[in-house]
Amino acid sequence: MYVVKFEDLNKSDIGIAGGKGANLGELTQAGIPVPPGFVVTAETYEKFMEDAGINDKVMDILDKIDINDTKALQAASEEIKSIINEAPIPEDMVLFITEAYNQLCQRVGEDDTDVAIRSSATAEDLPEASFAGQQDTFLHVSGNDEVIEYIRKCWASLFEARAIFYREENDFEHSKVYIAVVVQKMANADKAGVMFTVNPSTGEEIALIEGSWGLGEAVVSGDVTPDNYQVDKKDNEIINVTISDKKVMYTNDENGTSIKVDVPEDKRNERVLSDEELIELTEMGKRVQAHYGEPMDTEWAFENGNLFLLQARPITTLGDAVEQTDDSAADVGDVLVRGLGASPGMASGKVKIVLDIDELDKIKDGDIMVTTMTTPDMVPAMRRASGIVTDEGGVTCHASIISRELGIPCVVGTGNATSTLIENSGVTLDGKKGLVFDGISETKSEEAAAVSVQAAPIITVTEVKANVSMPEAAEKAAATGADGVGLLRTEHLMLTSGIHPGKFIADGNEDELIDTIADNVMIVADAFYPKPVWYRTLDAPTDEFITLEGGENEPREHNPMLGWRGIRRELDQPEILKCEFKAIKKLHEKGYTNIGIMIPLSQSPEELKKAKALCSEVGFEPHKDVDFGMMVEIPAAAIMIDEYIKVGIDFVSLGTNDLTQYTLAVDRNNEFVAKHYSEEHPAVMKLIERTIRKCAEAGVKCSICGQAGSVPHIVEKLVEFGITSVSSNTDAIADVRKTVARAEQKIILDAARKRLE
Ligand code: PEP
Ligand code: MG
Repeated sequence: MYVVKFEDLNKSDIGIAGGKGANLGELTQAGIPVPPGFVVTAETYEKFMEDAGINDKVMDILDKIDINDTKALQAASEEIKSIINEAPIPEDMVLFITEAYNQLCQRVGEDDTDVAIRSSATAEDLPEASFAGQQDTFLHVSGNDEVIEYIRKCWASLFEARAIFYREENDFEHSKVYIAVVVQKMANADKAGVMFTVNPSTGEEIALIEGSWGLGEAVVSGDVTPDNYQVDKKDNEIINVTISDKKVMYTNDENGTSIKVDVPEDKRNERVLSDEELIELTEMGKRVQAHYGEPMDTEWAFENGNLFLLQARPITTLGDAVEQTDDSAADVGDVLVRGLGASPGMASGKVKIVLDIDELDKIKDGDIMVTTMTTPDMVPAMRRASGIVTDEGGVTCHASIISRELGIPCVVGTGNATSTLIENSGVTLDGKKGLVFDGISETKSEEAAAVSVQAAPIITVTEVKANVSMPEAAEKAAATGADGVGLLRTEHLMLTSGIHPGKFIADGNEDELIDTIADNVMIVADAFYPKPVWYRTLDAPTDEFITLEGGENEPREHNPMLGWRGIRRELDQPEILKCEFKAIKKLHEKGYTNIGIMIPLSQSPEELKKAKALCSEVGFEPHKDVDFGMMVEIPAAAIMIDEYIKVGIDFVSLGTNDLTQYTLAVDRNNEFVAKHYSEEHPAVMKLIERTIRKCAEAGVKCSICGQAGSVPHIVEKLVEFGITSVSSNTDAIADVRKTVARAEQKIILDAARKRLE
């Protein structure tokens, strides 16, 4: 069959229609609104190549090339594409395709209707293989001749240099990869975007929706920072709306060609989706997920108030959860104690019974900790254990929650483990079934290895960290697999305590202030241990702190953004800063040595010197006892970064929110000048690049924690400049991680190509 309508395809037809075509068929059959269309099958491409007698010729060229020879690869690609472009297409094939196109035109009631022509590649033996983004897509194609011409271009795009390279690198046989072509009525969207039917980072059952003006290309290509919405799927409650400054959009010019234009001023900061539209989208997301039986990643568009889905595919980044096998403890002895399975997995090791907090030191790496019930002070020791067993507790007790977060198998509520198990004896515990067996299992370690392979996330050399403001958000941030916390803002932590830090001091309650800070920071340090957490000392703007109990004395400033905040304020109020240092010191003494200190808003190296001296004064030596770094948020700091490096810093983090406002003289809180605020202004980018390069030269780690670090196309540039880590908002981590991986691969590829030139 040369062509098949969407109505006659379903998701199992990947071999005929490729992944894209098969999914559009599946959605159509499920009654989900999809712009109508048809697929020119993979078989059609195969027959075209055969009938034209060009298959062998193409394969011969491919056989001979060395894909690492960029020039030869490019030349081979050009040669093959011209062979395909010059070969005759059988007449009956042309007839079938144009007939299908004309039927589509009739159906939508438009002569020569505009269609999108998209490649949908598929591999003979591996239909599930992904070739996404390797072949071409053409928009706004119309008329019989153009339709045929662009289908042929899609076929030829199977031999773009990048596609040949990708197949060779991934061991796909060229002769077994085919290409189907999707021909679909163009959606002339006035708003469009993507929707994940669960949070792709955490798997939470919320619809995560991104939308912007015009065609979906702007969102999919990353040309625009879209609005971001989250809707709770249980009750359609809209739980988050983040409106961004949407600078560009794709739209149709008078010839129907899609062009990139500036978004009209009045719409840039206007919210794209109404509450009703969000609920309509969420409902559609639920239907799609229910239909496929798994979380989905979709592309959607609204055209004149009508909602369409343009694409749906299973979310591939999930799947870290690993099932344990049932017979994994087959080689061990009798069940010694039973309880509740609180954290899944098998663990073997020596029993260490802890009845008192003083006994924690006896837990060495790989031991099984057996105790009445765990407490927060035990967390560092829990981390060393390979498994945890308690007498008391249920599946939401401290031991359960912490061991699940740590990924350590755990059995709770056994009633008698501390009195039954024998110190130093070997046991194996099954954290799913809640059993503790006599003896060490030999099979367990192999399984653990298999598990970690399956659960491997995307690995990037540039670390991708999370920004955390509230301790209660730490767990969710850590669940994304972030490589640490690149910014822990202290202000929120103070704001939730409700009391001004100055009041603690004035009332002689210094210890209480230290404990408030330490208790809250510990929650975050705990969630990420042993990954680094950079605690940023208080950056208290007077207008925010005025509302706190004891905040009445805050000065009234003309422009708090340029006023008494950051390290300059802390050096005027050293008692507060010293309490912060003492709190972090206290946590280090408890084993949370993963916490570093970062000072905000510095304008001179002198300030860094003074802050370090105060830290030493409390008996906590910067660089020796604790990593000590600074934020670059004022142009002066970016320009004088060499001087700061001479004073001594372990790391630098770019605070682009402030760096942008101070470089451009645009108050970031003032909506009247918001349109002039842009982190991509060449002057801001120059300061960023300079800071990254100077740090790299000096071997100082350089990160970013401003909002620009959550914007994929900016992050791409930062990786090119040589940034060592990026700290993003939790919801952006998955996307940023992908961007970082792609940017790193590009650097490697470009370097390899250069060497070959
Ligand atoms: C920044 O300025 O970029 C930053 C991360 O700090 P804050 O947003 O807290 O000022
Ligand atoms: Mg700042």
